[in-house]
Amino acid sequence: MREFELIERLTRSLYTHPMVLVGAGDDCAVLDVGLPERLLLFKTDAVVEGIHFTSGAPAEKIGHKALGRCLSDIAAMGGTPTTALVTLALPTAFDPAYIQRIYAGIDVLARRFDVAVAGGETTTNPERLLISISLLGWVSRGKAVLRSGAKPGDVLFVTGELGGSIHGKHFEFEPRLTEARWLAEEFPVHSMIDLSDGLAGDLRHLLKADGLGAELLGSAIPISRETRRASKLSTSAKPALLAALTDGEDFELLFTAPGAEAVKLLDAWKTRFPQLALHCIGKITATPGVSIRDRQGVRPLNVHGYEHFAEPR
Ligand SMILES: [Mg+2]
Repeated sequence: MREFELIERLTRSLYTHPMVLVGAGDDCAVLDVGLPERLLLFKTDAVVEGIHFTSGAPAEKIGHKALGRCLSDIAAMGGTPTTALVTLALPTAFDPAYIQRIYAGIDVLARRFDVAVAGGETTTNPERLLISISLLGWVSRGKAVLRSGAKPGDVLFVTGELGGSIHGKHFEFEPRLTEARWLAEEFPVHSMIDLSDGLAGDLRHLLKADGLGAELLGSAIPISRETRRASKLSTSAKPALLAALTDGEDFELLFTAPGAEAVKLLDAWKTRFPQLALHCIGKITATPGVSIRDRQGVRPLNVHGYEHFAEPR
C-alpha cells in the first residue's frame, strides 16, 4: 500500500471537532481557538536515521533539518511559527555530546525564526535515532493559503532551484517563511505547498481537490547547479530536468496566483527578494492531468511514465 492510501484510510473516519477548520491533507492543520484576529497552525514531522539522514551525519545539520521541515510547512500556509515540542527517540548506545549538537542545530534555526522550544519528550528506539517535532504557529484570519484553491488560468510559480538536494541542500535549506508571509499579505495567492516530494508529485496536491490540470513549460523549470553537474558527470544519473521534477526535499514554495497578477508579482518579488529567484513555470488548466511543453510540443507527464521522457542533456 502506498503512503497516501494509508493516510487516507487512517484519517477518513476520525472524530473531529468544529474548531478544526483544516485537518489532515494540507501542510498544517488550521485551528480556530477563538482568537479574534488569528487562526492557529499545527504541524508535526519526524526525521529518522537511515531515511532522512545517514548514521553519523553532522549533528547540527540533523537538527536544522528536523525543525526546518516543520518551518517549511508553516511557510506553505503563509504563517508564522511560534512554539515547538521536540521528541527524541534515542538508540541504546547514544553519545550525549552528539545529541546536544542536534539540539544546538535546532536552537540556531529556532532563534532565527523566533521559535521557542517549549518542551518535549525523550524515549528510546533501540536501532535508530528519531527526532519528531511538533510546531505551533499562527496566520491572520482570511490569510491562510491552502493546497486547494487553484483556479484555471492561474500561473504556477516556484522559488529557488530544484533537484539534487541530496548533494547538500536537504541539510541546509532555508525555510521560505518571510517570502511566503509576504506573498500571502501582498498578493491573492490561491494555493501553495512546500516541495518535499518533488515538483511532479507535489504539484498534484494542488490539482486534486478541483479536478484541475497543469501545463508546465519545460525550459522554465529551474534546475539546480548540483543537478546539472551530476547529470553531466554520470551517464547513470537522471537527466537534469527529470531530477528537477522528481527529486525530493527541495523545500521551495510552489504556488498559484491569477494570471493577471503575474507580471506585477514577479516585479515586486525582484525588488523585495533580490537574492532568491522566483520562476513562472506554467499554468493551471481546467482539464485534469499534467503535461509539459517543450520544443517538440506538449506531452503528458505522469508520475510513473516520465522516466521515458526524452530530454537533450
Ligand atoms: Mg509540506
